[in-house]
Amino acid sequence: MTTHNPLLKVLDSPGKTGNEQPPIGTQFFNYPNLDHYETSLLKGLELVQSAIGAASQPFSGVLPHELAKKFQSINLDHSCQSLEDALQEIEKLYLKDAVYFHHPHYAAHLNCPIVIPAILADLISTSLNTAVETWDQSAGATFMEQKLIDWTTEKIGLGTQADGVFTSGGSQSNLMALLLARDHCCATKKGHNNKLHGLPQDFSRLRVFTSEMSHFSVQKAAAILGLGYDAVVKVPTDRYFRMDAQALEAEIERSVAEGLLPMAVVATAGTTDFGSIDPMPKISALCREHGIWMHVDAAYGCGLLLSPKHRHWLEGIEQADSVTVDYHKSFFQPVSCSAFLVKNKQHLSVVTYHADYLNPLNHQQEGTPNLVNKSIQTTRRFDALKLWLTFRTLGTEAIGRAFDQVIHLARQTYLLFLSEPLVQVIHRPQISTLVFSYFPSRHLSARELDSANIYIRKALSRSGQALVAGTKVGDRQYLKVTLLNPATTIRDIQKILELIKVHGRAFFEQNEQSAKIA
Ligand SMILES: *Cc1c(COP(=O)(O)O)cnc(C)c1O
Repeated sequence: MTTHNPLLKVLDSPGKTGNEQPPIGTQFFNYPNLDHYETSLLKGLELVQSAIGAASQPFSGVLPHELAKKFQSINLDHSCQSLEDALQEIEKLYLKDAVYFHHPHYAAHLNCPIVIPAILADLISTSLNTAVETWDQSAGATFMEQKLIDWTTEKIGLGTQADGVFTSGGSQSNLMALLLARDHCCATKKGHNNKLHGLPQDFSRLRVFTSEMSHFSVQKAAAILGLGYDAVVKVPTDRYFRMDAQALEAEIERSVAEGLLPMAVVATAGTTDFGSIDPMPKISALCREHGIWMHVDAAYGCGLLLSPKHRHWLEGIEQADSVTVDYHKSFFQPVSCSAFLVKNKQHLSVVTYHADYLNPLNHQQEGTPNLVNKSIQTTRRFDALKLWLTFRTLGTEAIGRAFDQVIHLARQTYLLFLSEPLVQVIHRPQISTLVFSYFPSRHLSARELDSANIYIRKALSRSGQALVAGTKVGDRQYLKVTLLNPATTIRDIQKILELIKVHGRAFFEQNEQSAKIA
């Protein structure tokens, strides 16, 4: 493939100092270097293949101080002798101790295994280094992203005026939602333009309502937006960990009576811990009645949009003013792949700024599509391509069926755990998480049980044989499995349960021994 490029020779020859490094001219992605591109990528592929082949468990169990030692001798100003050496170093510092989300015994957080077409697409878009903020940098990429945005708003049912943009993740999408809601509220209830003038004097009256089970990015967004955690009203949940709509109504009415300004309700479609889905039809009715922005955080639950069996669980999402979806959680996409959608595209102008060098106003008048007009980010990755290639090769339905499979696995897991006397489950899974505790006897104190459950999670992680999460409900400590891997079977879950019992028993045996010694 490589053509002889005399220019490179000229560029490379001066200043050669006996340094072993390949000349920089051979290292750029361009036509003359396509052979080098191929051989380098193949070396990378081999490395990944051998690392994955060698990993029989999801994690090595390494502790931070153990791994930190390996970094002490690394001097970034002294490069490795060759690409092979540098790759070996990566194996040592990273791959050997990486957390393998594709492993069937990984069941901790909302990290999904990813589909191969998406990896291929990421390679393609990274090679070209397309940035999607303006048409003049991206051309077809802009249309691909827009088409996926339009597809998503249609699946949600947001209507003909809907629009959206890809974001770095659910946290950025939730921030955008509250930004748009805040400015909309100040405009309609106070005639104040935040984009031009900053916050109104009495901004501390603004309130956001969300359930006590919602994601912490809601509080974070409130802080970033200048409102503070104080502006977030935590609404209690029912026994299924869903927002209690009556309690929401009471909180809204109380706020209004106190002269506060309700600006948004953030409903969650798939809470991070319980997968619970807030009652969206009731919430949307309340929002409409009181003129409040309704945001639905479907970072996790968005996979239901494609579910042949459970799409109806998302009833009411189409009423939202804005929606967060994380394709990198429930569409089996690599990080990052995420979007923010709005019912009325005009609200996105809150993040529009016309820069003469990039996206001047006359572009808009000429109809040139510049996605930067809708985004907090400027330079932005072409994350849409992976979703595109996934859909075009596997079909959209395949994603929904895979999501149904993990929902089914969660039900099987629930039944298995119910039949296990040493374990107590505290809910029926709604999507694909299960919160439970190791509970060998009711004669143990809360403190002992909490310590046992903390110990089990740590011991599992230290062994690396399986990874589960820990969480708190009230002030009690629980374990959690998050199931997003269609390749995981109930046998894998049985194995994880066995390990949990082994470590639980070990905890109480150790306790007894130390009690005897003392
Ligand atoms: C994961 C999650 C988020 C945050 O999304 P990121 O992509 O990690 O920024 C927000 N909301 C919910 C319900 C989530 O589960």
